Amino acid sequence: MNALPSKPLPEIPELTRPFWSAAREGRLVMQKCSSCGTVNFHPKPWCIECGDRNLVWTEMKQEGAVYSYTISHSVAMNYLGWQEELPVVMCLIDIDGGARMYAQLTDVAEQDIHVGMRVKAYFEPIGEEAGIPKFRPV
Ligand SMILES: [Zn+2]
Repeated sequence: MNALPSKPLPEIPELTRPFWSAAREGRLVMQKCSSCGTVNFHPKPWCIECGDRNLVWTEMKQEGAVYSYTISHSVAMNYLGWQEELPVVMCLIDIDGGARMYAQLTDVAEQDIHVGMRVKAYFEPIGEEAGIPKFRPV
């Protein structure tokens, strides 16, 4: 029996480290622009709206609404873990008071998923220094 490789871990450059570290502690953070208040995601060196570089990591609410989603039945993600999780539901989620982010939605039947669906974050550790936010229906 061939063992599948484990899920690859994300590369964690300094730019995104606060996001992964916070998720390891069960917190969802995004960069908020000190100048215009725009919440930026994914992490960037400057504000997507006004270009200001003074972005402050800010704790977000852990709930939001599904903006869009796709359901993958693919075996292309041939890693231990993902193989067991198929089908994988990937969503764009509008975080309440925050930005739109990608995340996996779990614990939901395919036929129940819909745009606008309310979801809540939970956090899965992926190593000593990182966690990843995933979402479930509220
Ligand atoms: Zn800004």
